[in-house]
Amino acid sequence: MNGKEKRRVPIVPYLRLPEAPDEKAYLVGSRCRVCGETYLGQRTACLKCHSVDSFDEIALSTRGRLLVYTVVHQSAPGVPVPHIAGIVVLPEGVHLRTNIIGVPAELGILQAGSQVEMVTQVVREDSEGNEIVAYVFRPVEGG
Ligand SMILES: [Zn+2]
Repeated sequence: MNGKEKRRVPIVPYLRLPEAPDEKAYLVGSRCRVCGETYLGQRTACLKCHSVDSFDEIALSTRGRLLVYTVVHQSAPGVPVPHIAGIVVLPEGVHLRTNIIGVPAELGILQAGSQVEMVTQVVREDSEGNEIVAYVFRPVEGG
């Protein structure tokens, strides 16, 4: 046992990282048991039907479609630019803001509606040397 072993830590609580080699990272959603509306992360109340505490935790799809995107030329210190920021919609109806990797950060490269898949990447280390892991999306070949 080594108490200072490096860990991989998700940057947001709704990102689940694999614990075994045959597992894949995924995002956690909350699905309303009453109306079926699904949200990213944990929720206590449904915006659609106003039910409270009626959610099931589900694993969201790791593939979705790109709705819109833009090329970001100015960002917070330490964030590389230019990069692509987009909005992805998952089959469960969840919309999420995310960065798109794997293509040049230029307008006209991507098409709205094209298929993208989630991947994780280490974005930095914390003060204890743990790896902070974020999710991004990249285009699916032939998608
Ligand atoms: Zn509901």
